Amino acid sequence: MVSTAVIAPEQLHIVLDAGHGGLDNGACVNCVSEAVINLQIVKVLAQELQNRGCAVSLTRVDSESLNSPYANNKKVADMAKRREKIRELNPDLVISIHQNTFPSSSVSGLQCFYANETAGSQDYATAIQNQFNQSELPFNKKPKPTDFNLVEHSPCPAVLIECGFLTNPNECQLLQSPTYQQILAYHIATAVIKEHSRQNAVAITN
Ligand SMILES: [Zn+2]
Repeated sequence: MVSTAVIAPEQLHIVLDAGHGGLDNGACVNCVSEAVINLQIVKVLAQELQNRGCAVSLTRVDSESLNSPYANNKKVADMAKRREKIRELNPDLVISIHQNTFPSSSVSGLQCFYANETAGSQDYATAIQNQFNQSELPFNKKPKPTDFNLVEHSPCPAVLIECGFLTNPNECQLLQSPTYQQILAYHIATAVIKEHSRQNAVAITN
């Protein structure tokens, strides 16, 4: 018999990772810094998930990176700290937020990537991508596997969301808008909670 029990989101602990920070701006297009937008979206998404009952932790909470200022290779040290934090927090899911660029300014749209080696990652990435592809937004991309050094050996699923392209002038403006950031957060949270329930319903059946 298939159980229809809905798993309460309170049982879902998510780590949100705002990509880049500190001296690392990530992509930078016409003085718009990816690191700044990543953190803005992470904060809106954190609030949306908490409003729905999820427990949320952040890898970085301000504009600074996580490495010591004395680290030789700041990027490597920053990523190591993020991984350490994720291991300590031991969440159910990691979502890393980034912004994309492309040589052609006509390319746009949100795309999900997933850690290939971690079970459940592809399901979360597909759920989030489908949620957007079926939404009012003009997205039609497929989730892809990625080399994901943020979650090396992570026991939990992990997805990386490239929310849009800073090199597309229209999307770049949208990505900086609080209204659009809220729309992104709404769809990500909806997909994550639905997928979490689905995976747990399957687990109860088996
Ligand atoms: Zn990035």
